[in-house]
This record gives sequence, C-alpha cells and structure tokens, in this order.
Amino acid sequence: MAASTLDAALAPALQERRRQSLYRQRRTLESSQGASVWVDGKRMVGFCSNDYLGLASHPQVIAALRAASDDYGVGSGASHLVCGHSREHHALEEELAAFCGRERALLFSTGYMANLGAITALLGRGDALFEDRLNHASLLDAGLLSGARFQRFKHNDLDHLETRLAGSDARRRLIAVDGVFSMDGDRAPLPELAAVAARHNGWLMVDDAHGFGCLGATGAGTVEHYGLNQDQVPILMGTLGKALGTFGAFVAGSEALIETLIQFARSYIYTTALPPAVAAATRTSLALVQSEPWRREHLNALIARFRRGARELGLTLMDSDTAVQPLLVGDESRALALAERLEARGYWVVAIRPPTVPAGSARLRVTLSAAHTTEQVDGLLSALTESLRAEGAR
Ligand SMILES: *Cc1c(COP(=O)(O)O)cnc(C)c1O
Repeated sequence: MAASTLDAALAPALQERRRQSLYRQRRTLESSQGASVWVDGKRMVGFCSNDYLGLASHPQVIAALRAASDDYGVGSGASHLVCGHSREHHALEEELAAFCGRERALLFSTGYMANLGAITALLGRGDALFEDRLNHASLLDAGLLSGARFQRFKHNDLDHLETRLAGSDARRRLIAVDGVFSMDGDRAPLPELAAVAARHNGWLMVDDAHGFGCLGATGAGTVEHYGLNQDQVPILMGTLGKALGTFGAFVAGSEALIETLIQFARSYIYTTALPPAVAAATRTSLALVQSEPWRREHLNALIARFRRGARELGLTLMDSDTAVQPLLVGDESRALALAERLEARGYWVVAIRPPTVPAGSARLRVTLSAAHTTEQVDGLLSALTESLRAEGAR
C-alpha cells in the first residue's frame, strides 16, 4: 500500500531525531499569552514567549480586534492585489512607515514571507547575498530561493564580511542581518555594517523581529537604537507577532522599494491578506508601544535583574542586553533535562537545540516580558538554582 511505503520511508529520520535528543514536540496552550499560562492542564510561569511587551492579551488590543471584526468580518477574502486590501491594512502601513521614519511600509502575512518576498524580489542569478551565519532560517531560505550567489560570514565579523564583499564582482549586493539575533539576543553592529555596505556599494537589510517594539527610545527598534536612517538601512523588516503581540510583518523603505515588492514579491502577491481586524488590532498595539513606554522600562529592569541574578549563580549568560536571555548548556539531552526540572518547579522554558542553533550549543532560551513581575523573575532564578543542584546530585 502506498501509505505504508511512505511511512517506512519516513521512519528512519524520525528515529534518528529521537536518538539525538533533537525530536520536537508541541505543547498545548490552554490560555492566552501572559506571564502565567496553562499548558497541558498545568499552570506555569512562562519564559519562552516572544510577547515581549505583554501586548498579546492587552484589553485594548482585544477590544480593537473584536470591534473591527464586527465591521470587517473575519477573512480578508483575497490577496492585497485582488480585493483583500482594506482600509485597516492601508492605515497600518502608513502608521508603520511614519513610526519607523521610512517613506513607505508594506504588510506581509508573516515575517517568514516578508523575508522570502523581499530577497527574491531584489536578487536573482548573478547577484550576491551576504548573510550573518546566525541569521534566522527565513533569511537563509530566502537566500537559497533567490538564486543569487549566497555567502555567509562569521557572526558579527565585519572583517570577514569585507573580505567576502571585496571578492565579489556582482552587480547587486545585499547584506542581510538580524537586528537582534533570535537565539542569542545580541545585536548586529548596524552602524559599522552600514558603513561597510556603503564602502562596497551594497544594500543593508535588517530583520528586526526581536528589536521592533523593544529597542530605541520610542520602540522603533534596533535602527532607532542606533539612529540609522533609510539611506543607511534601506530595507527594514519588522514582525508584528512578537513585541507587537498580534500577527504579520512589514517591510519599510523607499517608495521604489515598496513598489518593487508590490510588483515582484511573490509571497506578497500570491497569498491571502491578513484579516483586516488583525491589522486594526495591530494599529492599537502600535499606539500602545508609543503611549506606554513603561513597558520597555519595566522589561529593561527585568533584563538587568535576571542578568545580575544569573551571574551570581555562575550561569553562562550570552552577550545580550535584550529580552532574549539564553543560558548556554551545550549538550542537547542536558538542556532537555534542565527544562524538565524547571517545568517540575512550575517554570516553562524551552530547550533550543540544533538545527535551530549550531551543534553543541543547545541552550535554555529564556525570554523576558513586560508582563512578568520581579517576583516571577526571582522565582525563575531560584528554580534554576534548584534544578542545577538537583542535576549535580543526580
Ligand atoms: C520570528 C522571526 C521571523 C519570522 O516571523 P514570523 O512572523 O513569525 O513568520 C523572521 N525573522 C526573525 C529573526 C524571527 O525571529
């Protein structure tokens, strides 16, 4: 039977993944995102969400979603170019462009699709793409799909990037980096990267999935943190499903960039637009990012507190001052065991393993949120202490 042939073909890779402690399993959430969540029937304090500002279940964002669904219904009905582009989408694009200090912005259904669409619309055969080795999978996949000559450079290594650029005679050269690296939490040196890009006639693209909303005086992200304008970072991508607490993504930049994406970005053209009510909820969320700066201040205070506490415990922190605070463990099975010990104490932290991170660098990816209290962060630190002690006594 055809089905059993399929299953037999699939089985070895599944077995191998299990054997390597790399098997992925989903947990079932029974509550909204927040500091305290119900997971598989248990209440836990969650330290793994990307809802960095606690906006995913903000009453005003929920109310905006509800009100807009009364006006616009649920589904958008079609792609943006057919008949799915609503007034809410349009207004959100204008507000995102203004917030980021860019001429225009274009909404995509997800960040993955934004990266795929932007890179494949800008590059093709004969062009060159330079990516940090630790870039998000969507940037790497976009590079492969584009057909451009695709080279990676060592993490945050400007000299290595310059060497690669100097060795390229491609007509179009795009340098793409995460603004804040998703599994490490450190920032890309954007001012220096912008200077390298200018020197070598390259275009800099920043994926600010983890900086947007959190970094910069007003929350406009890593480019605001460094004070970089549209000339220095001509292609800015941000996501709405993390700090903004809703769903979707955008690319911001010049009029010509956005028009090019509308004409040529296949993941923009050939997909259904986001529900308009989600765009409306995001407009409220974007307003809250600006009107409730205490969320960023509280988050930063928690980050400092966690790092101080972890250092006192002798834990291996990574070089991060953002909401992503991974604890490097190394071995996959040890990372899983530690996550289980934390869970037994009521704390939900996910063990991140290869291929999401390089081999031998499994980690507990702790993420902090403005929704957490200082007591919850202290509680996590105590649970970490106990888990490590229990591990030692094994
Ligand atoms: C989450 C993430 C994406 C993908 O965004 P989605 O909206 O979740 O598809 C892209 N880049 C980075 C760096 C991310 O962390």
